[in-house]
Formats: sequence, structure tokens, C-alpha cells
Amino acid sequence: MNNSLFIYNTLSRRKELFEPLSPPYTGMYVCGPTVYGDAHLGHARPAITFDLVFRYLKHKGYKVRYVRNITDVGHLENDADEGEDKIGKKARLEQLEPMEVVQYYANRYHHDMELLNVLPPSIEPHASGHIIEQIEMIERILENGYAYIINGSVYFDVVKYNQEYPYGILSGRRIDELLATTRELDGQEEKRNSVDFALWKKASPEHIMKWPSPWSLGFPGWHLECSAMGKKYLGDQFDIHGGGLDLMFPHHECEIAQSQAADRETPVRYWMHNNLITIEGQKMGKSLGNFITLEQLFSGDHPKLEKAYSPMNIRFFILQAHYRSPLDFSNAALQAAEKGMRKLLEAGHTLEKLQPDNTSDSDINALKNKLYEAMDDDFNSPIAISHLFEVVRIINSVNDKKETITAEDLTLLKQIYNDFVYDILGLQTEMESGNDSELIDGLIQMIIDMRLEARKNKDWAASDAIRDKLSALNVQIKDGKDGTTWNIDK
Ligand code: ZN
Repeated sequence: MNNSLFIYNTLSRRKELFEPLSPPYTGMYVCGPTVYGDAHLGHARPAITFDLVFRYLKHKGYKVRYVRNITDVGHLENDADEGEDKIGKKARLEQLEPMEVVQYYANRYHHDMELLNVLPPSIEPHASGHIIEQIEMIERILENGYAYIINGSVYFDVVKYNQEYPYGILSGRRIDELLATTRELDGQEEKRNSVDFALWKKASPEHIMKWPSPWSLGFPGWHLECSAMGKKYLGDQFDIHGGGLDLMFPHHECEIAQSQAADRETPVRYWMHNNLITIEGQKMGKSLGNFITLEQLFSGDHPKLEKAYSPMNIRFFILQAHYRSPLDFSNAALQAAEKGMRKLLEAGHTLEKLQPDNTSDSDINALKNKLYEAMDDDFNSPIAISHLFEVVRIINSVNDKKETITAEDLTLLKQIYNDFVYDILGLQTEMESGNDSELIDGLIQMIIDMRLEARKNKDWAASDAIRDKLSALNVQIKDGKDGTTWNIDK
């Protein structure tokens, strides 16, 4: 394993040589979705970003334990300590068990991830399955004096913590400014300071999901689950913690404070944050009418969409930007990405047919090194993709007999395609991705039904013409006594 990977650490605000605590083992924790609705464009970016990180670390020979949680309790409506539980609310409105809501949307999330060719994490813990660990963590924070109990709820004392540890080291926020800008406590609230956050909340009688604890029948605060589950599966200190930039404050800042207060340990060595996706320059939001789910993108069923975009199209679009850069969604940008992706994947097929010669006109080994350099530089996928387009140019020129390549270099080109296009970037030809094969199945069945109709009308000419045209596209049809079957000759 050559140790040359640099990662931009949000904590130190610079690129650092990646040195895991106990190589080749590497622990990575990424904040997963709160499962109360369909996954949307905003979910695709962190999923694909950290899938790229996961894939590249594995490619470099690391043994990665990748933990991505499912938030199924404690995430309140306003993302702070007030309001209804997001899942509880959905369950109440739809008259379902909260765990029915969780299961339904978790299944749909997994389906979307599979279409995007996002690998499943090594462990996918649910917050509701780790109440005991969260209660234990609160007990340690209380013992160490960084939390207080009021009316059955427990709050983290940010002001006290900040006297010993810097609160705001990750996000760069300053506590005096936060105290000045956050709204005044309105007297209804129990917290000592507006910056304090809930570790445990006493449940109101109508609250559905609640558990017994030393303090009350209640539920854990949203920030706590990731600290407790990260520690459980990856240890007091682990290598990488990732998530969207929107989670840096307060969620990740609170995670650092909780772990430090409970276990006197900085929990994470490398913090990574992906930038967010905007839609035609605007933040995505239900009120703006630009809230697009992944399912709508794949089907084209949304007023903002000119057409359907395949999961691979979305994946390539996201990888074409560096994960720390902003990315703006538009139909034009997605259609440009689609063209590029097709060119890249088609060259992969052309590559299989190339014939070797005695000399090579291009330096393939140098290109391979450039690809590693790009990925070692904080996972720079857009630069890697630009080098892959040089690979595409070479493939097409050899195919057009404008340049030659040796057998050895041809093998190297195939290795580059396997490693970088398919394995690391995780791109696959559209025939392999589920959504398009469903479409193809549907279209072929429709044509076969039209042929059946022609046969019923004794229009043999039309029926034969359909069969021959399908055959020319490598679709072979067979008439049997149970009806017509078909298969694609590959
Ligand atoms: Zn989290």
C-alpha cells in the first residue's frame, strides 16, 4: 500500500497526509438519512461522495469499516430541541407505527442507493437500537459535569464546556457571537443558555417513541446517536467522519463536544464535508417548488424536469464536480453530463475490440500515474475524469487507426477502465442499472403485444417485419404454446 493519499480535513482546514490509527484498518462514519420521506437530490451527493471515498480506500488496500446510520428517533422538526419528531409526525398523520414509516422509507432509500450503484456500508445502525449506549453516554457527561437535569430532560452545558475545550473548533463559530445572535430564551424553555442542546428530552404524553431512563420516560437528542454509535463500532477515536456541509454546525460540532465531555477524547481524526447541491442557483426546498426526489429524477415526473435522468447520469454529474465545490443542478448540466458519460462508457466497449500493434503512440503508464495523483489529492474526481477523457481519445484514435498501441499497453488500458471507471468511480453501463432495464423490458413487451395484435388481424407482413427488426437489434423472439417469449443476445 503506498501511503500518498491527502485528505482535506475540515478540522485543520488544510490537506493532510492520510495516516489511519491502525493501518490497514480504517474506520469511517457518515451521517445517514432521517427516514421520514423519499430520498432526494440532496441525499445523492453525500451518498456518492462517501461511496467514492469508501471505494478508493478499499482500492488502495485499506480494510474499511464503513458505518452509516439510519436516524429513526430524536430528529425534531426544526432540527433543534423543539417541535415534533419528524418520524413521529409522519406516523401520526398516516396512522402508522413509527417503525412502519422507518422501514418503508429505509427500503426505498436502499433501492435508490442500489440504482446509484452506492455500495452498502459495513454497518448500518439505527438510533432506536442504541438507546442504552446513548443513556450511558449521557451518564458519563453528567458525571464529568458538562450537563444538567431539568424537569426530566438533560441538556449539554455548552458555556461550561467552552471554559475548558474550544466549542466551535470545527465550524469556526465563536460562542460569544452565538450567544449574541441566537434568539433569547423565551421563558418557556428550560435551557440555561440558548446555545445548550438536549441530550435527553422528557416526552410529552402524546409523544409516540419514548423509552425509560434515569431521568424520565423520553427520547435522546438528535446529535447524540452518532457519538454513541461511532464510539460503539469504531472506538473512542476513529479515522474519518463525513457528512454534508449542512451538518457541520450544530450537529458535528455537538458530536465533538459530547465525545470530549464523555470520554476526554477528540473523537475524529479527519472530518470531511461535501458541499451542497443547489437547483438553478437556489437552495432546494418544498416551498420553492424545486424539491425533486431521486425517483422523480429517474422517471422524469416533475415539472422542473425536461426528461428522465438515469441513476448513472446523476452519479456521473455528481462525480464531475469535486465534492467540496458547490454543484448546481439544471437540465442543461445534467444533459451535458449524460453526453460525457455515454462517451466514456461507449469507449469502454470499443476498448474490448481494439487490436494491438508493435508500438504505442501514447504513454499509458504516465496517464495511470496521473489518475492516482488526482485521486490521492483529496479524491479529485473531476481531474481524474478529465484524464479518463484522454484515455477515451486514445481508444478512439486506435480504433480509427490514427494511432497504435502495444499488447502490454492495451492490457494497461483495460486495467485503467476496470479500476477507475467501474471500480472507483462506480460507473456501470446503463443496461446493467436496474431502471433502464425495466424500461427496456417494458418497451420490448409493448412491441411484442403490437405484433400479437397484427397476428390476430392476420397481418403476417407486419408481424414478420416486427420480428425481423427486433432480431436485427439482437432481440430474439420465440412463439410457444404459452405465448411469446424473448431474450437479448449479448
Ligand atoms: Zn450524525
